[in-house]
Amino acid sequence: MRGKILSKLKSISISTPNWSPGLVFQPNTALQQTSNLPQKQNNHNLPTLTKEEKTDSVLMHDDDEAKSTADIDPALQISTSEPLISDFDEKCPPGGKDILVLYTTSLRGIRKTFEDCNAIRFLLESFRVSYSERDVSLHLEYRHELWEVLGGRVVPPRLFIRGRYIGGADEVVGLHENGMLKNLLRGLPLSLSNRGCGGCGGMRFVLCLGCNGSRKVVVSENGGLSVVRCPDCNENGLVKCLVCS
Ligand SMILES: [Zn+2]
Ligand SMILES: [Zn+2]
Repeated sequence: MRGKILSKLKSISISTPNWSPGLVFQPNTALQQTSNLPQKQNNHNLPTLTKEEKTDSVLMHDDDEAKSTADIDPALQISTSEPLISDFDEKCPPGGKDILVLYTTSLRGIRKTFEDCNAIRFLLESFRVSYSERDVSLHLEYRHELWEVLGGRVVPPRLFIRGRYIGGADEVVGLHENGMLKNLLRGLPLSLSNRGCGGCGGMRFVLCLGCNGSRKVVVSENGGLSVVRCPDCNENGLVKCLVCS
């Protein structure tokens, strides 16, 4: 019996010369392990992992980090103190359940607000992550939905990831400086186009063709002509770009 096992071990060590160090076959442990196993284990082409090795490999390949790091040496737990997306308040702007939504303004009225918007936009673009930008100065509806979802008259920029409210410029820049923002962006679709859109040049809105941006159209009414509000565009005479919005 012992001779039989040893000859098997011999053939294993010959047939598996290229295993990575983590899977190096230990004849001593393997001998103990094999002798405890029933005879039906005939296929010895693959080395048998010890219990510890099995646990390690499961942990290493587990996608659920929070769960898998629970049993690891505290010194190795680098990611558990970092915020998870589920740590943030569930406040979802319309259509924002699975995407990143950034409310901005392109008005330069308040310099800090304008510069904050640019900073967050630049940050997201440096991560090459795809996001839905909603410029409240171009589209009143965006301002209303932002105020509604946050329950107050807040100013941009405001960042939402997968229906969770991350914060304004200070919070987002703070997360980035602590190296935590990339964790929250993980798994989001990447931006394919480098910058801008062929349809709108990156503005996400184009001038309404129905009224040429005047917001007024002439219609025939009761046998005469009258000027009415253009039904196609927003308060700025703009419509969403069909290419990118
Ligand atoms: Zn129009
Ligand atoms: Zn576009």
